Amino acid sequence: MTTDFNLAPQISSLIAGQDVTGRSHRIPVYYPATGRQITELAEADAHDVDLAVAAARRAFDKSDWSRWSIERRQNLLMAINAKILDHADELARLECLNLGVSMHELRDRQIKRAAYNFRFFAEYLGQRKGDVYDQITGYRSIVIREPVGVAALIAPWNAPTALASMKVAATLAFGNTCVLKPSEQTPLALRRFVELLHEAGVPDGVINLVNGRGPVTGEALVAHPGVDLISFTGGTETGRRIMTSASQRLKPCSLELGGKSANVIFASADIDRALDAALVSIYSNNGQQCLAGSRILLEKSIADDFIGRFVDRAQKIHIGDPMLDATELGPLGSAAHRDRVLSYVDIARNEGAELLTGGARATLPGDLAGGYFMQPTAVLAPSNRSRVCQDEIFGPFAAFLTFDTYDQAMEMANDTEFGLVSYVWSDHLPSIEAASRDLRSGVVWVNTTMTRDLRTPFGGYKNSGVGREGGAYSEDFYTELKTITVPQAPITVRRIGTDT
Ligand code: NAD
Repeated sequence: MTTDFNLAPQISSLIAGQDVTGRSHRIPVYYPATGRQITELAEADAHDVDLAVAAARRAFDKSDWSRWSIERRQNLLMAINAKILDHADELARLECLNLGVSMHELRDRQIKRAAYNFRFFAEYLGQRKGDVYDQITGYRSIVIREPVGVAALIAPWNAPTALASMKVAATLAFGNTCVLKPSEQTPLALRRFVELLHEAGVPDGVINLVNGRGPVTGEALVAHPGVDLISFTGGTETGRRIMTSASQRLKPCSLELGGKSANVIFASADIDRALDAALVSIYSNNGQQCLAGSRILLEKSIADDFIGRFVDRAQKIHIGDPMLDATELGPLGSAAHRDRVLSYVDIARNEGAELLTGGARATLPGDLAGGYFMQPTAVLAPSNRSRVCQDEIFGPFAAFLTFDTYDQAMEMANDTEFGLVSYVWSDHLPSIEAASRDLRSGVVWVNTTMTRDLRTPFGGYKNSGVGREGGAYSEDFYTELKTITVPQAPITVRRIGTDT
């Protein structure tokens, strides 16, 4: 194990503010850019999960946390925002060591976004409204929202802090407590993040961290009777398993799952801009993002020229050390994942696809020789039914398709089990309007890459998820509604059980 990075030799769980070192299993943690082990994870077993849920329960049931005033909660959320920004370099570096995404992408976008999530909910709290109903003469019913209780928050490895922080911010904003389980592959930055939350003033027990594998730590958490709601981001199969388990105790679930998003580019588009965006949509975050524009649908009249220019640019993408700001594509998350993504090159060939560029490992010199790098890859698929157009590959791997008519484009775009996001490029207003309506996905981005107003609902149609995150939609999930009915004057109650 290398200690070059000055990391703790073991990453443990953090329960009620205390380090808890799991007793059973140890999981190696690797730096994807070198393939070398950099530390290890002490897995939390069912007993540790029990301690974490008990701590969250105590903080919810027995402390005044869930009744804090709005102002006090806003101050705490803003203190967390400042704390994360103060430690942005440190968090980005830890995330980079786990993930291999470039430092500049992590520091300038993902960690900033993590900080902003807390600020967003601080501001949101100041705008909350309730409802009053008065249809029954002499009565007034008010509807208030209360926290649900203990939330299980389960995060994936591809953008650990950016994604988990949205769940944590909403959990705390609405007065819940939680147990957070990061991916076993990427525990580093989230461990520090939870410490920073404590330093910013989050009371012990309000956030607890358990580290470990899905089938061990994750399953114990999801099935725990002390958990009241589950927010999960990850793969579709895991989402199914979680929902099945949650149904046994009727726990509400929010599931943010996979995607295979269509990027539909019409001949009427601003082609230069669409080209820049197509490259970013598939290759940023090393191609490992649920929102990736992984199926690029081109109107035939522009296809040859567009593909030629795309390939030329893809071949110039700077693959390298993610710690360097100049790097545009770092290593994939793990060796197994890199091999899985590369296996789609053979699948594509066997399906009759044309390999346009890439399709192999990228070999880097020195320390990086053992890293999990691959070349930015693109294929021209024979049909939308081919596996490269149907499976979520989750890497720097684009599949091109071409279309003649608007109807063909929509049919192909919607012919998928997923429905997370879609992209449309056109300067022809009627096509934009029609496509915005016809595309079956939770988000449609028109003439832009990933742009998210946190007040808008985010989530997927079909197998891309259940539920929505963002502003009022998060409030819906993280709160219970309570109706309180009060007469406006003393009422006459029908009398029963009297002699008269
Ligand atoms: P994954 O489903 O393998 O794991 C996600 C998390 O679930 C991890 O923490 C894992 O340990 C845990 N887990 C696994 N099995 C579990 C079980 N049985 N019970 C409880 N927890 C369990 O996904 P991943 O490989 O970490 O992430 C990649 C996937 O996440 C992709 O499909 C991607 O599209 C999806 N994703 C979706 C969004 C979105 O917003 N829709 C965002 C990012 C990633």
